[in-house]
Amino acid sequence: MNTNLIFDQSAYEQATDASVIAVADNAIALDQTCFYPVGGGQPGDTGSIGFAQELLSVSNTYRDKQNLELVWHEIENPTKLPSVGDQICLKIDWNRRYLHMRMHTCLHLLCSLIDAPVTGCGISTDKGRLDFDLPEMTLDKTELSDQLNELIVANHEVQKLHITENIEQEIERLTRSKYVKPPIIGGAVSLVKIADIDLQPCGGTHVAGTAEIGEVVCSKIQKKSKHNRRITLQFAI
Ligand SMILES: [Zn+2]
Repeated sequence: MNTNLIFDQSAYEQATDASVIAVADNAIALDQTCFYPVGGGQPGDTGSIGFAQELLSVSNTYRDKQNLELVWHEIENPTKLPSVGDQICLKIDWNRRYLHMRMHTCLHLLCSLIDAPVTGCGISTDKGRLDFDLPEMTLDKTELSDQLNELIVANHEVQKLHITENIEQEIERLTRSKYVKPPIIGGAVSLVKIADIDLQPCGGTHVAGTAEIGEVVCSKIQKKSKHNRRITLQFAI
């Protein structure tokens, strides 16, 4: 029992029809979804589900703990949930998701500028941050902002690729994060490639070209521990 992950092939799908394949106390799982499940620093999508005459609010989306290929949609105030086999339609809160996509893609650019392992990641609608294992304080906010905006305006293409062979070795070779490994879904791992700037395994959602990110500013560089530097970015407008 798996969910077809529409967002993995097409991050711009905002709505879809689906059928219910499992029902829990306050969540339903579907045969396909465009909703992104929380993971890799990117929050789970919110939005709405329509079925019969009801309109339900989805307050979070997450993967099943045992089966990473099954996606649950958490329903706010679940007074009347659909049943297994029911046809529903679902729609993402697109403004929120698109901000996540823009910031998530920008964090890949940030990654390309700093040669150090990533130890943490967080994304929200107005900011994003990466933690780096970086003992020396060699970074400058203005310089980073300028470098990022230069990459953004050049509108580099962002592509999603999939690898199906030597997965473990390829993950090991390409992953920048020290702690977070991308999910292996259907025997494949997603890679994100931004021109010749960045290539790494990532299961998140991204914009198609870097110009969509818009202008950003590096707002903070913090020393979180002896080895840890936290870099926070915000949208300029
Ligand atoms: Zn990503």
